[in-house]
Amino acid sequence: DVSAKKRDSVPFDPIFLSDEKSDIDWNSFSDDEFRAGVFAWFDKNYPKNMRNTGRRGSANEMRPWMKIISKKGWIAPAWPTKWGGMGLSPAKQIIYIEERERVGVMREPDMGLVMFGPMLMRWGTEEQKQKYLPRIVAYEDVWCQGYSEPNAGSDLASLQTSAVLDGDHYVINGSKIWTTSGHWADHMFLLARTDKNAKKQEGITFFVTPMSAPGLSVREIPNISGHSEFAQEFLENVRIPKENVVGEVNKGWTVAKSLLGFERLNSGSPRPARAALSAAEKVAKANGVWDDAEFQSKYTRVYLDIADLSTAYKRFADIMSLGDSPGPELSQLKIIVAGATQLASELLMETAGSAGANSDYESYDGDDVSLLGMFFNHFGAMIASGTNDIQRNIIAKRVLNLPG
Ligand SMILES: Cc1cc2nc3c(=O)[nH]c(=O)nc-3n(C[C@H](O)[C@H](O)[C@H](O)COP(=O)(O)OP(=O)(O)OC[C@H]3O[C@@H](n4cnc5c(N)ncnc54)[C@H](O)[C@@H]3O)c2cc1C
Repeated sequence: DVSAKKRDSVPFDPIFLSDEKSDIDWNSFSDDEFRAGVFAWFDKNYPKNMRNTGRRGSANEMRPWMKIISKKGWIAPAWPTKWGGMGLSPAKQIIYIEERERVGVMREPDMGLVMFGPMLMRWGTEEQKQKYLPRIVAYEDVWCQGYSEPNAGSDLASLQTSAVLDGDHYVINGSKIWTTSGHWADHMFLLARTDKNAKKQEGITFFVTPMSAPGLSVREIPNISGHSEFAQEFLENVRIPKENVVGEVNKGWTVAKSLLGFERLNSGSPRPARAALSAAEKVAKANGVWDDAEFQSKYTRVYLDIADLSTAYKRFADIMSLGDSPGPELSQLKIIVAGATQLASELLMETAGSAGANSDYESYDGDDVSLLGMFFNHFGAMIASGTNDIQRNIIAKRVLNLPG
């Protein structure tokens, strides 16, 4: 692994190892120095017993770590410095992701950081930005996304949750489901129908609500690995003040689609594929098959897929960081990352042999790896943020102009 070898021998500025926030422009470092410094800081600070779990960490277990990374000023690599982010260029973001995955950092409940925050910077009022953004980078508030409903997933615009104006409040009734982090979150952003007579997409409004609002109840849903990462919410006469609307009333579909762009960029990042491949590397080295020709050939294939993906990701991240729309071509990212994650997690299981059937952690040269957790994770990647079938439909219709 060329980049790992390079990283280990490159000297870096001591500022990387400081635990305090710095105003330095992180883009000013060479890629090699940045890579070495990022790895060193994550490796020094991220708890050993929370690495390579193959699942998302809960809000509570991640809180001490998120406070450390927030204090360092590294919690939001893609956010502009104005709002407390690192302001990284897309090329540096990729390096950040690669080194974080190499260390085996768990994914946190990050809907505020990767979806709601970037969307609010574009669509929110100044007051909404001041109210919500600083608390997201301080990891004071955890957010969840209330889009899907029991009868509205791929066809999201058929959602039935309703919002009816009553004085200065909207009264919300309905149910949301598959809400990642719903049972840990402090706030939810959600879509509700405000005009039943308009065309499907035209009567929807984008709201935010505290999860503590009276009438809002939450039920955890365990996933295939037995972890509870998502939930269902029931909203019964939940009253939301009018100022909790983001964007215009009945124009929520435009806001929702813009947020979906950030969501699809994020879920198209090489992160899950990198995580599984890093785990496969650890297991192969510990099991003595790292130099095996068959392993090397399979590893190289996934490695190159991820390299392709990273190049495409950088291109879309570049477009979006300039405030431009990525277009329907963005759908390809999710398909590629789901495929690469599948190949990487299959390679991981193959390399682990019979240990792969163990649902607990396996120890490899001092690193604990959750093999089955990593493997099961890839199924979600094919469904979340719009299934791969839906992404293929978008490409067929809007990129290739195929009939049907
Ligand atoms: C890990 C994970 C996390 C998630 N987190 C969230 C979250 O935080 N917030 C949230 O709102 N939602 C979340 N979801 C829900 C996710 O967005 C939906 O599951 C997804 O959009 C699919 O909707 P559905 O489950 O209703 O399936 P359906 O839409 O019922 O689809 C069932 C099957 O039919 C196929 N299908 C449907 N329509 C078509 C079509 N037109 N052409 C071809 N095939 C089609 C689908 O590909 C799928 O295979 C999450 C899902 C997962 C797996």
